[in-house]
Amino acid sequence: MANTSTQGQPVQYLPTLEHDEGVAAATKLFAVTFGTEPSGVWSAPGRVNLIGEHTDYNAGLCLPIALPHRTFIAVRPREDTTVRLVSDLGDGSVAQVELGGLKVLGVKGWAAYPAGVAWALRESGHGEVRGFDAAFVSCVPVGGGLSSSAAMTCSTALALDDLYQLGFGGDDEGRVTLIKAAMMAENDMAGASTGGLDQNASMRCTPNHALLLDCRPELDALHSVSQQSFDLDALGLELLVLDTQAKHQLNDGQYANRRSTCEQAAKTLGVANLRVVADEVAASSDQAQALMDVLGQLSDETMRRRVRHVVTEIGRVRSFVTAFAAGDVAEAGRLFNASHDSLAHDYEVTVPELDVAVDVARRSGAYGARMTGGGFGGSIIALVDKGQGRHVAQHIADEFALRGFHAPRALAAVASDSARREA
Ligand code: ADP
Ligand code: MG
Repeated sequence: MANTSTQGQPVQYLPTLEHDEGVAAATKLFAVTFGTEPSGVWSAPGRVNLIGEHTDYNAGLCLPIALPHRTFIAVRPREDTTVRLVSDLGDGSVAQVELGGLKVLGVKGWAAYPAGVAWALRESGHGEVRGFDAAFVSCVPVGGGLSSSAAMTCSTALALDDLYQLGFGGDDEGRVTLIKAAMMAENDMAGASTGGLDQNASMRCTPNHALLLDCRPELDALHSVSQQSFDLDALGLELLVLDTQAKHQLNDGQYANRRSTCEQAAKTLGVANLRVVADEVAASSDQAQALMDVLGQLSDETMRRRVRHVVTEIGRVRSFVTAFAAGDVAEAGRLFNASHDSLAHDYEVTVPELDVAVDVARRSGAYGARMTGGGFGGSIIALVDKGQGRHVAQHIADEFALRGFHAPRALAAVASDSARREA
């Protein structure tokens, strides 16, 4: 049903929580809830992936930046193995989890994320990690494809690392251990399948850089990332992020389904993962023909399209990095568009809200626009001239109102810092 009531209303921009505000709010929520002071405050950012979607679990490439929007956690360790958690997004009620005897998928609801991190560290040989009380305050939109879940697990992992002096948080190599714990919490405790992009972004991104992440499992920490300069200002650009607020209602099983199709395809092609295929195609003198040859070995039409997305998307990450470094904004925009179209037609993970938002952004002057994150809802990004983001966001909001979609929410993305101690 059409609902024009919000048409013409200024589009909402999501504010950030700055250091002082975040620390004060998390400390206050902790004190009000648990009646004592926290031992410290840590934070971790949400992320937005510039390009390279559904490539992480195919040992591929992706290119996230950390958002200025962060989740703050105030924590105090406990002597026992009880975890007590409160979040400003809830009704003030405390979730309680007992770490002793905890099993895979043993916690229901959002508490699975932070409790799962402590469980994962203990399961990985860090039995010194015990219970804790924690209060979360966040400005990362939840369920918007901007990784509020990784902001939560990574801030928790860094806090526990510090409090129990595990010694991993101080350098990039150590952080890879914390990333594994954060991934294990999502995969095995929250039951939310994740390929590692989100946690790597939240733990390893640096200000003014995009993180070129190579997800081949055989790579060590040093060789799995490189920091790529990402200075939008220098190119007179702005990156609009717009959360469509379309819920992940179709998400059930779809992500796992895409993953398993990719695994089956790799098996049929006799390779460890689809990255191997992507590299073979990239090395060929006739890439289009090489891709056709690969697809010709697959009998299932849907599988062929899934593989085509993964292989071409990995190629687009490389091309985007080159184009952006050369200041070729038109090409960078074209690659955004090609990525979205591939996700819509070959990978089939978009929903009408994502397609409409991308379409309106392109018609409103964006160099390129694409869905970002896993899909089935969530956010889009658009590369626009500096100062034009609000105008493009407004056009999308107006179109959403006409179509009776939820009002979207926007934010201006600048490449920010990874997880850190705040106080
Ligand atoms: P995304 O990571 O894209 O925001 P997910 O579905 O992966 O979406 O994760 C969202 C889930 O993470 C929420 O449903 C909730 O369980 C948990 N979560 C994230 N941030 C918070 C928070 N600040 N407070 C409580 N729960 C949170
Ligand atoms: Mg998530």
